[in-house]
Amino acid sequence: MPDLLARLRAGETLVADGAMGSMVMARGLEPGACPEALNLSRPELLEEIARLYVEAGADLVQTNSFGGSPAKLQRYGLEPRCEEVNRAAAAAARRAAKERALVYGSCGPCGRLLKPVGDAEPDEVRDGYLRQMRALVAEGVDALCVETMTDLAEATLAIEAAREAAAEAGREVPVLATMTFDRTRRGYFTIMGVDIAAAAAGLARAGADVIGSNCGNGSDNMVEIAREFRDRSSLPLLIQPNAGLPRLEGGKAVYAESPEYMAERAQKLLVLGVAIVGGCCGTTPEHTRALRRLVSSSGAGQAG
Ligand SMILES: [Zn+2]
Repeated sequence: MPDLLARLRAGETLVADGAMGSMVMARGLEPGACPEALNLSRPELLEEIARLYVEAGADLVQTNSFGGSPAKLQRYGLEPRCEEVNRAAAAAARRAAKERALVYGSCGPCGRLLKPVGDAEPDEVRDGYLRQMRALVAEGVDALCVETMTDLAEATLAIEAAREAAAEAGREVPVLATMTFDRTRRGYFTIMGVDIAAAAAGLARAGADVIGSNCGNGSDNMVEIAREFRDRSSLPLLIQPNAGLPRLEGGKAVYAESPEYMAERAQKLLVLGVAIVGGCCGTTPEHTRALRRLVSSSGAGQAG
């Protein structure tokens, strides 16, 4: 299978998978438990989730390693097993993807604020990300994805760590980087106050190959966010909206956007030239299937 950047350069639009958290929750993950602990205890569940997304038509499936940084794992006493946790995540996704899909290694925020706002030393955070990234790369991920970032300084450290792990591996491992924005009266900002212009410039400067946004408040906002990224960057864009804002029903998060609604809005993303479309919180393999149908019928997807 041609690698990710070659496919993007050839003009193909790719479909990424959807949510991971709600999928593991539906398979019995207790509230408050460590999602990444399942990589060690129930890897077959992760393989099943990835397989469902591959069968729904995803070109890219993620590893269950969003909280796989040592700082995040420390909360559950799993920090010493960081390498094992991340390798198991990549191995499970790989087994499901086989030659049918590419695997991207997910890496979310470390959960600590950097100095001087918080008490986290930048070098320590960067070294932590490097441990995670090396483990994902060692197990053969096709790309690394720094996601759901709100602090540009932290995103930069994670991207630098990803680049370093990729360089050590001696093979091309593209780095994807996305931030999460909220709509305000003055435009879109992350909760740490980063606007899209700063994100587009900063993520590119840090060394990301593909930039964009994930999570947030649904597809309509994401179309505006994508447009602003497109105006400010010529890098390929990755866009993964939530299925709307969750509301609580009987203690469970319910998401408003149906697969059809999301795919209908995603047409606008294709018009904007977004390179990779996928989903975040609340999206399911049915959302992926709807995005796959859209991309394939637009003629932008892989031939055949
Ligand atoms: Zn999300």
